[in-house]
Amino acid sequence: MKEVLHFINGEYTASHSGKTFDKVDPATGQVIARVASGEVGEVNAAVAAAQHAFDSWGKLPQQERSRLLMNLAAAIDRRADDFIAAEVADTGKPWSLASHLDIPRGAANFVQFAEHFKYIATECWENLGQNALNYAIRRPTGVVAVISPWNLPLLLMTWKVAPALAAGNCVVVKPSRETPSTASLLGEVMNEVGIPKGVYNVVQGPGTLIGAALSRHPDVHALTFTGETTTGQTIMGDCAQTLKKLSFELGGKNPNIIFADAPLEECLDVTLRSSFANQGQVCLAGSRIYVERPLYATFVEKLVERAKGLKIGDPMDPATTMGSLVSHGHRERVMAFVDAARAEGATIAYGGERVDPASLPERVKGGAFMQPTIITDVQEHYSCQAQEIFGPVVTITPFDREEDVIARANATEYGLSATVWTSDLRRGHRVAAAIDAGLVWINSWFLRDLRTPFGGVKGSGIGREGGIYSLDFYTELKNVCVQL
Ligand code: NAD
Repeated sequence: MKEVLHFINGEYTASHSGKTFDKVDPATGQVIARVASGEVGEVNAAVAAAQHAFDSWGKLPQQERSRLLMNLAAAIDRRADDFIAAEVADTGKPWSLASHLDIPRGAANFVQFAEHFKYIATECWENLGQNALNYAIRRPTGVVAVISPWNLPLLLMTWKVAPALAAGNCVVVKPSRETPSTASLLGEVMNEVGIPKGVYNVVQGPGTLIGAALSRHPDVHALTFTGETTTGQTIMGDCAQTLKKLSFELGGKNPNIIFADAPLEECLDVTLRSSFANQGQVCLAGSRIYVERPLYATFVEKLVERAKGLKIGDPMDPATTMGSLVSHGHRERVMAFVDAARAEGATIAYGGERVDPASLPERVKGGAFMQPTIITDVQEHYSCQAQEIFGPVVTITPFDREEDVIARANATEYGLSATVWTSDLRRGHRVAAAIDAGLVWINSWFLRDLRTPFGGVKGSGIGREGGIYSLDFYTELKNVCVQL
């Protein structure tokens, strides 16, 4: 049985208490690993290691930190198959997705921030009236806690670890209990390329214990979190006593607004992805689809046709386009939304069922598979329309007027992203400006430039990361004023 351990001060360690938990591959239903389950002692040891390492890592010249992190990215690429296999077994996602998205982006995050931070200058203000010069310098924040979710484990974790380390901080990572493996494996690669001990630490275990201990720890100076909105609320409360810097990337219920003049075939292809990629377990998923009435019936028919073409099966099969949900428990949670939609009077236009094990290959008959599901005839207050489902379930609703669809798009507690499909340039910009969200795509989805600001408004988050915005979070600006 594979063992997944903590990674503290450059060494793999079991829990002092001897406690472990079982990790199940959701696609097979089999236990694949025994994972160390940490306690406050492990958190204290990891924070102390990070604090100690910070003394030298934070003072290294930027060029040297960047060089080491570029080597790290190259080493992740060399070990890509190990990372992909671990991610696929932990999540049940298709190999084809992990090999195209999760793992390459994990490496690319390090390249992006290692490169970008080398060339950033600070500002200077000359005040001739006062005969003074002010200039700003940046200092790393210190020890940063990174609490990450299960849907894109390595990608989302490195999205925070990479800028934190590039800026000179040391980190303690708390991965999700569902996906402990790649965070742990990254420790090996850190050692291999010579990242000093204590710069990167991982503590495994339950969020309510490990996450909460990090949130309350006086020597953790900043905390960056990706996960559910309600978890963010708890973390914010826990951080209050020690006044940490916070960055929150939270849930979404993102509108995908399609006007009748949309480039239809392209829009359908992309909407299939924004609905069902990673089994719909993507914070940016366009789960509320609004289609202008003249196109509505055709659009529903054609999206159903495309959904039928998705190949559900063994994540290890390169032809599989839809894998398993992350756990059997999560599948039941998603199914409860579909059952509620039926009871409320919605129409299940396609899917809506667990996949029949008889239709699955032998190895994955015990998996948490679910059909891609398209729901119509919904009202805005139905739970499937109002709440984040985080599974392969979308709703499609017709609209008549631009003002109405904007109002409906904004009538949510969330504000992460939105998509607008139209051939009318002015309308595209107009609608994008009117949507309450941190990110709006026009005629595309998931097109990411890592230099741009990323984050949500309302219940979808606090702050922005990406490019210079990450540097703002992971450093403190100090102003120096000289009387000349
Ligand atoms: P989650 O909130 O349940 O867990 C996220 C992490 O927080 C896990 O590591 C968990 O162990 C930890 N945690 C749980 N309770 C905690 C506590 N009391 N204190 C500290 N840490 C705690 O989220 P999840 O189910 O892993 O992920 C799905 C959610 O993440 C969805 O809501 C999704 O929209 C969101 N998400 C957001 C983004 C974004 O960029 N905005 C990206 C991906 C996922």
